[in-house]
Amino acid sequence: PVVSQQAAPAVSSKPSCKPAVFVPVDRSPEIQEARLKLPILAEEQVIMEAINENPIVVICGETGSGKTTQVPQFLYEAGYTSSNGIIGITEPRRVAAVSMSQRVAKEMNLSHRVVSYQIRYEGNVTDETQIKFMTDGVLLKEVQKDFLLLKYKVIIIDEAHERSMYTDILIGLLSRIVPLREKKGLPLKLIIMSATLRVEDFTENTRLFAVTPPVLQVDARQFPVTVHFNKKTPLDDYSGECFRKVCKIHRMLPSGGILVFLTGQAEVHSLCRRLRKAFPFQKNSTAGDDDDRKESVEEMRKFKKSRRRRKAATLPQINLDNYAVVPVDEGDEDRDAETDDDIAGSDVDLDLGDGDSEEEEKSDSSLPLYVLPLYSLLAPEKQAKVFRPPPPGTRLCVVATNVAETSLTIPGIKYVVDCGKVKKRFYDKITGVSSFRVTWISQASANQRAGRAGRTEPGHCYRLYSSAVFMDFEKFSAPEITKRPVEDLILQMKALNIEKVINFPFPTPPPAEALAAAEELLIALGALKEPPMTGRLKEQQAAKLSCPISPLGRVMATFPVAPRYAKMLALSRQHDCLPYTITIVSAMTVRELFEEFDRPAASEEETVKLKGKKGRLVQMQRIWAGQGSLQKLGDLMVMLGAVGACEYSGCTPKFCEENGLRYKAMLEIRRLRGQLTTAVNSVCTDAGLYVDPKMKPPTEAQATYLRQIVLAGLGDHLARRVQAEELLDDKWKNAYKTALLDDPVFIHPSSVLFKQLPDFVVYQEIVETTKLYMKGVSAVEPEWIPALLPSYCHFGKPLENPPPSYCPETGRIRCHRPSVFYRVSWQLPAVEV
Ligand code: ADP
Ligand code: MG
Repeated sequence: PVVSQQAAPAVSSKPSCKPAVFVPVDRSPEIQEARLKLPILAEEQVIMEAINENPIVVICGETGSGKTTQVPQFLYEAGYTSSNGIIGITEPRRVAAVSMSQRVAKEMNLSHRVVSYQIRYEGNVTDETQIKFMTDGVLLKEVQKDFLLLKYKVIIIDEAHERSMYTDILIGLLSRIVPLREKKGLPLKLIIMSATLRVEDFTENTRLFAVTPPVLQVDARQFPVTVHFNKKTPLDDYSGECFRKVCKIHRMLPSGGILVFLTGQAEVHSLCRRLRKAFPFQKNSTAGDDDDRKESVEEMRKFKKSRRRRKAATLPQINLDNYAVVPVDEGDEDRDAETDDDIAGSDVDLDLGDGDSEEEEKSDSSLPLYVLPLYSLLAPEKQAKVFRPPPPGTRLCVVATNVAETSLTIPGIKYVVDCGKVKKRFYDKITGVSSFRVTWISQASANQRAGRAGRTEPGHCYRLYSSAVFMDFEKFSAPEITKRPVEDLILQMKALNIEKVINFPFPTPPPAEALAAAEELLIALGALKEPPMTGRLKEQQAAKLSCPISPLGRVMATFPVAPRYAKMLALSRQHDCLPYTITIVSAMTVRELFEEFDRPAASEEETVKLKGKKGRLVQMQRIWAGQGSLQKLGDLMVMLGAVGACEYSGCTPKFCEENGLRYKAMLEIRRLRGQLTTAVNSVCTDAGLYVDPKMKPPTEAQATYLRQIVLAGLGDHLARRVQAEELLDDKWKNAYKTALLDDPVFIHPSSVLFKQLPDFVVYQEIVETTKLYMKGVSAVEPEWIPALLPSYCHFGKPLENPPPSYCPETGRIRCHRPSVFYRVSWQLPAVEV
């Protein structure tokens, strides 16, 4: 490697840094041979010397050079795990954590008891574990329990270039933990690994590291890739364009694998089907297509069954006595779901069937195309297929989401087809309103994607957009932390006693307004101690940005859910509401419980089928919504009812399929319920809580308490229906006013309260499609508001643009939009919460 010039000669004088032992590894000859081809192998000595001599090292290398699979093995062989302490590797994606632990275990010929993984809901870590792959969220949770991470000898932060929020925070924290461990005489090694992308954010950030860490550049041995731009950029149908491009490549160009980048699971499946139809191949020929799918359904079923068994084991009878054996308390990571449309869209194959030239594209050449899908939530066995050579006499074609960009390297790719798009979740910085959008990738991503074509020989990359469009791409995509609400993160940091969050050594700090919004919300929820209102306004504002955590905040921080939901949990011991709140919160966290039937259908027949399914779902939702005062709990009651009914039926794929529930979501809810039950039991040590998967519906009184609990957690998500006399114009018809937005918002048509239009509601989230829609809606009574949310209320006449008001009783300064609340009555009823 080239050790960069900027590196200071940070040679540690402590010999204790260098373990003396050499631990032999018994690898098979094939593995050994494959390893020797990896560029990083030649650099083992240089890398290990740099690690031995420096507390912090940055390793940059082209994707596929062997960083993730080999560096942990180097460390193991050099004896880093031979005395008390293990190697931890963090990945931003679950799929990488699981797949890499399996690969490394196989390469080293060790069992998964030794080379293990831990992701949010599952893992196979044991007492014998020496190499542990995990998601970055999992490690962040561990920092809370043991700030110095004493269990670890080495921490590897992998895929740092992805700039995931947790990765950024971990790097900030570790920049402090490493010197502290050094001082204690228990040195910790930190290795930051990244694709060859901008690393200056880490290395040239003087707030981060006192001494600039050496940057080792692993020689890429990248073959040249010829980039072909489209003359024109297709507007919408990039999927169809991909199809045509793959057909052309396959017919006209010499052998070599094809890798196609699309944005989501449904698109991936759809393209796979079209390609299999066009280039049939025994098992997945048109006739055999069904076979293949049958086989894959069967595989999926097996996979789910095995997962079910594991999951079933984590839920039952959690009480304090067996707390120690319940292996859950993990970070709170679900990025796969966010970047994949597993959540954004449907799980079902969606054949776009754009009808164009499928016939004429039908190949007359007989060379079959071996088509494989790849996306983050694909069953691991199917994922592993892409690493195996294709059947002889076929050409490999992998249709992938951007997991193939840097997380996984597929061998034998010569042609890359890049649609130039990626699906991302977008948030409004202040309100947290989110939406999934397909957007252009960055130039860095485009180059990464192109690079996949030149791993084994010179290759070609076909970009389905023009070079002018490419020039308009942003250079790098912005770090996640600058793009999303950060209240969950701030609460976690406060729980680590980092009070002046603003001074934290973020590799890239979140925008000041996002930090302020987060602190504001946490103060309103009671998670932070409000600063005394003395001194000048400026000083007060500064004090507000460094509030310490409150006892309630500490309780909230132990729950692996968003702070609003954590507040609900913290309030729910009363009236035996906990089992219900846990279920509601789990359902809200997992999101998208119901299948989406409002999608375009390929045929008349399918349209009828979808309609029927939707009808059934609507009917069931009405039943799940309950009766009497239960109904007012609205969509949250539907969630409760759906989960209860599903568990009652044994949570089978059949029940879910018949009733429009997403099986995968139901399984996640089950796991999260188990996890939250454990968390609650560890906070309320006398609760001895056991959540019955098949719980009874709440009583009428409990339903009312639940609505109050929900209100207390979602206080800033309160909305008041616009009354007839206020109707400004037609666009306000049936609209609601919210505290956070000026625009009209509406109850989503899928809500059971869509027709009821209660005067006051709280909502789980606002999503923007054609209008701003509230989802997860529940009705609240106006008289509860001043009692439960005093800090949000302004008792007085409504003002158009009120100045910040000062309340002498509470000492609070508030900016209000009292128009939302002016119907709130003065009498404070006795509300017990
Ligand atoms: P990097 O982290 O530098 O991107 P990796 O360590 O992930 O590189 O990959 C090194 C090599 O190992 C690649 O050639 C990749 O194809 C191969 N590889 C990774 N996982 C598997 C697997 N499950 N089966 C076969 N080969 C694999
Ligand atoms: Mg890697």
